[in-house]
Amino acid sequence: MLGGEKRSVKGLLTQDQLIPGLGNSIAQDMLFKARLHPRHPIGALTGAQRRRLYNAIVRTVRQVIAQGGRYDEFDLYGIPGGYVRRMDAKATGKPCPECGAIIVKEPYLGGACYFCPTCRAA
Ligand SMILES: [Zn+2]
Repeated sequence: MLGGEKRSVKGLLTQDQLIPGLGNSIAQDMLFKARLHPRHPIGALTGAQRRRLYNAIVRTVRQVIAQGGRYDEFDLYGIPGGYVRRMDAKATGKPCPECGAIIVKEPYLGGACYFCPTCRAA
């Protein structure tokens, strides 16, 4: 499925509902943990990068579920979740948790992407 794929890793995560219910904000965190730039073309991922991406997807989904969802969403009883996103609008202009470089925001695929320009390869 990934061979010759021209879409970016962010496109893979957020378009066509490959993972139903996965939103842009959680996808940003997965790409941050995988240390991948959102525009990275899927077809150009190395074996190691694919493993990092897969592990980041599984790890993030487990974290979000274990913490009862996102902190800015509420369950049926009005209780907010405990998962705090690392790469969202609030991260813009702040230091990267990994390397300290300033997080930047770029418009992309009809939304925005947030990323560290230093520790993530394009
Ligand atoms: Zn960084």
